Amino acid sequence: MRKFFEPESVVVVGATHKTGAGAFNNVECMLRYGYKGRIYPINPNTSEICGIKAYSSILEVPETADLALISVGRDRVMPIFERCVQAGIRRVIIISQGFADADRRGVELQEQIAVLARENGVRVVGPNTIGTLNNFLHFTTGFVDLPIPEKVYPISVVTQTGVILVASSGFTYKSWGKAIDIGNSCDVDFVDALEYFADDPDTKVIAVHMEGIKRGREFLEIASRIALKKPIIVLKTGRSKAGAEAAVSHTGSLVGEDDVFSAAFNRAGIIRVKDGSELRDAVHSLLFLQEMEGPRLGVISVTGAGGIMSADACEDFELALADIPPGLPEKLTEGIPEWIHITNPIDIWPVGMIGGNFREVYKEAMTDLLKSPDVDGVLVIIIAPSSPLHATDYVAEVVAAARRETGNRKPIAMCIYMDSASSTIDQCESIDAVACFDSIEQAVRGLSFCHRYHQIRRRKFPSPKSFSFNRQHVDASLTKGRDQKILLEEDALCLLAAFGIPVARGIVAASMEELIAEAENFTYPLVLKLAGAAFVHKSEWGGVITGIGNVDGLRNAFHKIVDNVRLRDPDVRIEAFQLQEQAKGLELLFGLKQDTQFGQVIACGMGGIYTEVFRDISRELVPVDRMQAEKMLKTLKMYPLLTGVRGEEAVNIEALLDVLERLSFLAAIIPDIAELDINPLIAAVDGCKAVDARIVW
Ligand code: ADP
Ligand code: MG
Repeated sequence: MRKFFEPESVVVVGATHKTGAGAFNNVECMLRYGYKGRIYPINPNTSEICGIKAYSSILEVPETADLALISVGRDRVMPIFERCVQAGIRRVIIISQGFADADRRGVELQEQIAVLARENGVRVVGPNTIGTLNNFLHFTTGFVDLPIPEKVYPISVVTQTGVILVASSGFTYKSWGKAIDIGNSCDVDFVDALEYFADDPDTKVIAVHMEGIKRGREFLEIASRIALKKPIIVLKTGRSKAGAEAAVSHTGSLVGEDDVFSAAFNRAGIIRVKDGSELRDAVHSLLFLQEMEGPRLGVISVTGAGGIMSADACEDFELALADIPPGLPEKLTEGIPEWIHITNPIDIWPVGMIGGNFREVYKEAMTDLLKSPDVDGVLVIIIAPSSPLHATDYVAEVVAAARRETGNRKPIAMCIYMDSASSTIDQCESIDAVACFDSIEQAVRGLSFCHRYHQIRRRKFPSPKSFSFNRQHVDASLTKGRDQKILLEEDALCLLAAFGIPVARGIVAASMEELIAEAENFTYPLVLKLAGAAFVHKSEWGGVITGIGNVDGLRNAFHKIVDNVRLRDPDVRIEAFQLQEQAKGLELLFGLKQDTQFGQVIACGMGGIYTEVFRDISRELVPVDRMQAEKMLKTLKMYPLLTGVRGEEAVNIEALLDVLERLSFLAAIIPDIAELDINPLIAAVDGCKAVDARIVW
């Protein structure tokens, strides 16, 4: 990968002899950008391009170049690529479009390139790419004339678009150092790019723009490793509901493609941002500030209103206002009218104005906040006017002095307003662990990313439990499931029970006589349900009757269900009924869904027939351990219902955690399940019971 970013020599195929406005001449752009390596333009119609000798064929080039750049019509790409291979070139960037991005012929052409590349150990970036950018070496493969950045920062970018490559300032506040557009990624993909950036000393923060991915598992593996030492921020676009529509189960429809990406990124310790503005704040804060060890923020403001805004922003971004360091209010208000109260956010304006020593007040507040063990980060809202009536040099000086004196790296986010802001920002950002933001909200959001990154670095990898299970029952269920492609009611519950998941007692019977006979072995109240593959969603057929108190009730229920079905479809055959003991409690959903990229996703949340209306669901990649199971439950909106509201008793949370862990274990043992739904699992004080399940292969 290094040669894609630091080639010593480049062959450029498809270089035009035209230069100047509208020529889009790669060679010209490379030269103007300051590339110092050797360039070999290939063009049979001219002897020289931009003052450099042109060759009529790749095979005539006097050395084996580190890199070849191809930008010709798609039908000419393959023969040229073959010649690159022949010439021994091992790195090729194919800029040309019209491959998998276009039509079937394009897909075929791209596949041919990929095969030839693999067979010959040649690495290819693209096609349909603008290539790579290395600002540390002034190297670009793009055909866009870029302004040379004044200062380059160790931000590395992987994208699936060329625009983002040349639009640095649109996506980050600072110029990034290296970028790669993987284009159609026929060979080099996200995983390769991450592998390179992982050990690249020029990379401190990795930003990824992603539309889709091909090697999901590998991506997560490498990202998990990198995230421990460098933050990875992903802007995943196209938040499609794909996958959700086609689902048979509730879990299927509640775990769409986008949810899976979120669960996967979360598992890998990737910070997902939802738009370009979040991306900028995340990159900026992680570049300058890195980690914030806790959520507690100390705020220094020159306006009370700004303090309130920061308090609101803390709520929005899950940070908290720190307790004010003991002794600080007394220190700040010495000799000041007693009507001035100091709390956090600290409004230094009245104290500074009345006391006449603004700088000292600011410095004391800053130093004490940084020193305090109750403060994890500091937000400063301050002004930098250029007027000679106000001194502004202290804005940065105080921060630098406080940083020196306290000797820690607690992040300081600053919002600096007024007409001297930009030079003050530069001074401030040259101090260790200080970053400036345009608004209070962005500053707090930026800090929240730092806190998140701290949690990522400290996070424990799951240590899932193993359970004993009834192998005989499982094997029997598996044969049936794989054969029928779906397991319903008792069959599905039986497989769950084999893994120790508690299920309601029940049987399946074909006739009323049989049901009545079986009912003697059960304790009323009972539930009668339609059974059989024709009735996947039983309630929709009027096929579930609860609260059956005795044999008469059972008879009535039987007739009622038969009538309900007849009303909806006179021809459908009812093959069987399910009789089940009734459970009482809160209805939850637990489920699994197989994702082609990332494997099994486990979900839990609000169950029952309104599941899809409220969509109160948490999702995680399998496996989950007890700690993650707890997090899954706690992040549900309905969690307070589980712990009991308004004097209600709490349900047995331990039992629910156990179900999650067992389900995760089941997923690992039976990896070919496409979807699994327990809906509902009824949770009560004394435990829980699955009363309905379906499993799809
Ligand atoms: P389906 O999902 O196919 O419509 P369910 O078996 O989930 O059928 O039943 C629908 C609803 O009936 C459940 O959400 C629940 O409210 C209730 N129900 C079903 N079985 C029981 C049971 N054993 N105990 C208590 N309520 C039940
Ligand atoms: Mg159900």
